[in-house]
Amino acid sequence: MSVAVIGAGIAGISAARHLHEAGISVDIFDKSRGSGGRMSSKRTEQGEFDVGTQYFTARNSAFRAAVEHWQEQGWVATWQPRLYRIDEQGLHRSDDDQPRYVGTPRMTALSRGLIGDIPLHSATRIAELQQVEAGWLLVDTDAQTYGPYQQVIVATPAPQAVPLLESAPALANAARQAQMEPGWAVSVGFDVPLAIDLDAAFVRCGPLDWVCANHSKPGRSEAANWVLQSTPAWANDHLDTPAQEVAEHLVDALAKALGITLPATRFLHAHRWLYARPGEDREWGALAAPELNLYACGDWCQSGRLEGAWLSGREAAQVLLGKR
Ligand code: FAD
Ligand code: NAD
Repeated sequence: MSVAVIGAGIAGISAARHLHEAGISVDIFDKSRGSGGRMSSKRTEQGEFDVGTQYFTARNSAFRAAVEHWQEQGWVATWQPRLYRIDEQGLHRSDDDQPRYVGTPRMTALSRGLIGDIPLHSATRIAELQQVEAGWLLVDTDAQTYGPYQQVIVATPAPQAVPLLESAPALANAARQAQMEPGWAVSVGFDVPLAIDLDAAFVRCGPLDWVCANHSKPGRSEAANWVLQSTPAWANDHLDTPAQEVAEHLVDALAKALGITLPATRFLHAHRWLYARPGEDREWGALAAPELNLYACGDWCQSGRLEGAWLSGREAAQVLLGKR
């Protein structure tokens, strides 16, 4: 059996790895140059920034077992930030005893480790699926074709899955229904460390949702690099604001939230995630049209967290293998 997985985020990789371990031949395709999708890291001369997934938690027992294995491999480690909540009243220390995990030395270490020797066709945006006698042909945006594959798993964010699922109207409709919310993520490198004993904070006022000292995570460079994430509502209102303006605005908001004067910046970049997170959690697990040998998975089928995406990918593989 040959399977194509479209999307090298954690959902697609989870599906591909479970199939690979069952002895199935799998190819992964992604439009980006690397793997990881929203579990993404930016490498700069000023050190790295985790611009997507900040950390992840593990609640499901199968996922917890997988995370233990990833720790043994050295792909992830626990992260124990000095954690705060910031609201109109100020800063409140907000530690809890929940384990939080990060990829080491950057988030993408996990996707690289999990892909291992599974073939990845990067920089390949799939535009169309064509049904032929032997299965499915994948057609990319340069009109190059791949396959045929007997089975296809679409593991892209919901809006990007819709055109690929057209042959299975029920799946395409579900993907259409799964709205996704945007978010801005600003990477800012300061000349010197901030004069504050805080590694990360959930922000509950203004445009910010989350701020984090990237260098507080295990394995990162010591550069004073911070990642600032906006709320979905603020991103919705500023979808077309120039990136530089967004970056400056969110850095100002950081100064206000922390109540300190910030040092000079030596790196500043804003990334717009059009499909940052699903608007709501679902209990779909994965979507299947077995009569067409077509499947879909992703965080939008479960929950907008790394764990939800991994579970959804695992479910797609299990359904395809007839185990569910
Ligand atoms: P994705 O990671 O989006 O992967 C889909 C892949 O499909 C992408 O690589 C994309 O390039 C590819 N693709 C799309 N269309 C095509 C096409 N036509 N052809 C080929 N390839 C295509 N979760 C947490 O648990 N903790 C956090 O702290 C956290 N923070 C977050 C912060 C931000 C800023 C964002 C954006 C997300 C965050 N999340 C967090 C959510 C988490 O990152 C996602 O739930 C998870 O990574 C989704 O994985 P996925 O595989 O479903 O999708
Ligand atoms: P989690 O349990 O650490 O956080 C879940 C939510 O609980 C947080 O957003 C926060 O509101 C609250 N919370 C948790 N611990 C807290 C504490 N000590 N003090 C105050 N509030 C606390 O992790 P999770 O459920 O695995 O979620 C992962 C994170 O991913 C969340 O923070 C979520 O907002 C974030 N996320 C962000 C995006 C984005 O685009 N920015 C997308 C998807 C998920």
